[in-house]
Amino acid sequence: LVQRMRGFGTTIFAEMTDLAVRAGAINLGQGFPDTDGPPAMLERAVEEIRSGGNQYPPGPGVPELRAAVAAQRAARYGLEYDPDGEVLVTVGATEAIAAAVLALAGPGDEVVVFEPYYDSYTATIALAGATHRPVTLRPHGGRFAFDPAELRAAIGPATRLLLVNSPHNPAGTVFTRAELECIADLCREHDLIAVTDEVYEYLTFDGAEHVPLATLPGMRERTVAISSAGKTFSATGWKVGWITAPRPLVRAVQTVKQFLTYTASAPYQRAVAHALEHEQDWVAGLRGSLQTKRDRLIDGLTAAGFTTYRPQGSYFVQADIRPLGFTDGLELARALPEKAGVAAVPTQVFYDRQAEGAHYLRFAFCKRDEVIDAAAHRLRGLG
Ligand code: PMP
Ligand code: GLN
Repeated sequence: LVQRMRGFGTTIFAEMTDLAVRAGAINLGQGFPDTDGPPAMLERAVEEIRSGGNQYPPGPGVPELRAAVAAQRAARYGLEYDPDGEVLVTVGATEAIAAAVLALAGPGDEVVVFEPYYDSYTATIALAGATHRPVTLRPHGGRFAFDPAELRAAIGPATRLLLVNSPHNPAGTVFTRAELECIADLCREHDLIAVTDEVYEYLTFDGAEHVPLATLPGMRERTVAISSAGKTFSATGWKVGWITAPRPLVRAVQTVKQFLTYTASAPYQRAVAHALEHEQDWVAGLRGSLQTKRDRLIDGLTAAGFTTYRPQGSYFVQADIRPLGFTDGLELARALPEKAGVAAVPTQVFYDRQAEGAHYLRFAFCKRDEVIDAAAHRLRGLG
C-alpha cells in the first residue's frame, strides 16, 4: 500500500458491521435503513432493467436525473442550475466527495474539515496528496458546534477548500444560518471553495431548516454542493449521487470523475429521477418517522444510563459512555456486539484529536421500532 494511504486500513463501518454479523448483534453501527424506499421508485428501476435501459448512460448522468436535480434545487432552495453543465451525477456522494477533492486540492494544499468528520474526507484528502486541518465540534447548549475563532485560525495561506457537512454525520448538527454566515464570510475573505456534503438535506427535525451554503451571498459561485439518493430515499445500496456547481467547477470535477467510474448505473439514475419528481410526500413521511425513532432511541439509551445529545438532523445519536463507567469508546465498541448484542460506531475514529471524542458512541436510529426497542433492552444492565 502506498505511503499516503497507510493508516486508513479498513473503514470503521465495515469493521463494526463485521463484528455485528459474527456476534449476531443488532447493528446500530453502520447507517442504513432496514426498510425500503418508495415502492414506485423500486418498480421504476425494475422496469428500466426489463425494458433495455442497461447500457452506458451519458458521462454526466442521464438527462432526466440532471433535470430532476436542477428542479429540486430550484423548488426547494431557489438555487438555479443548468442541468446541462452545472449538474453532474456520481456514484453516490462518496464518489462526488472523492472527485471534488481530487479535482480541487493537491500537494501543498490544505483542506479544512469539521471533526468528528465523515471518514472518506480525510482519506480522499490524503489520496489527493493534500493535508486536512480539523476544526472540532464540541457540545455547546446541547448540540455540537464550532468555535468561530478556531475556524478562523485553521485557515492559512495554503487553504484551498473548506468541507462542510450539514446536517452533520456523526454529530447530528444542522448548522444555523449564523454558523453558515461565519463560514461564508471566511470563504469570501480567503477566496476558498466550499464543498458541501448535504446527503441528509431532508432529514432534519423539530423544524430545523437545512440551508445550503450556496444560498448565501457570493457563495453560489464558489460552492460545490453534494447530495445523494441513499439517505433521502432509503436506498443506500443504489449509490446514486450528484453535484451542483457553477460550470467551471463541474468541469473540473467531471475531469476526475470520468476516469474514476466514467458514469453511474443507468437504471437507478432513472428511478431516482422519478423519485425526486414524485416522492416528496414519501420523504416528508420518512422525516417525521425518523424524528419519532430518534426520540425512541434516546429514551432507550437514557434508560440504559448513557448521556445523549439530541441531533437536529441525520440519523445518528451521540451517546456519552462515561456515566456507565467507560472511558474508551473504541474498546467498548469492539466489545459491545459480544457483550451486549448491539453494535455501534466509536466516534473517536473521526477525530485527529481523538481524546475529544474518546467517550462517545454513535448509534443509528434508521431502524424499525422493534429493532430500536430490542437494542435498548439489551443495553440495559451494561454499566
Ligand atoms: N457523506 C456523509 C456525511 C454520509 O453519511 C454518507 C453515507 N452515509 C456519505 C457521504 C456517502 O453517501 P453515498 O452512500 O451516497 O455514497
Ligand atoms: N454513511 C454511513 C454511515 O455513516 C455508512 C457509510 C459506509 O459504510 N461507508 O454509517
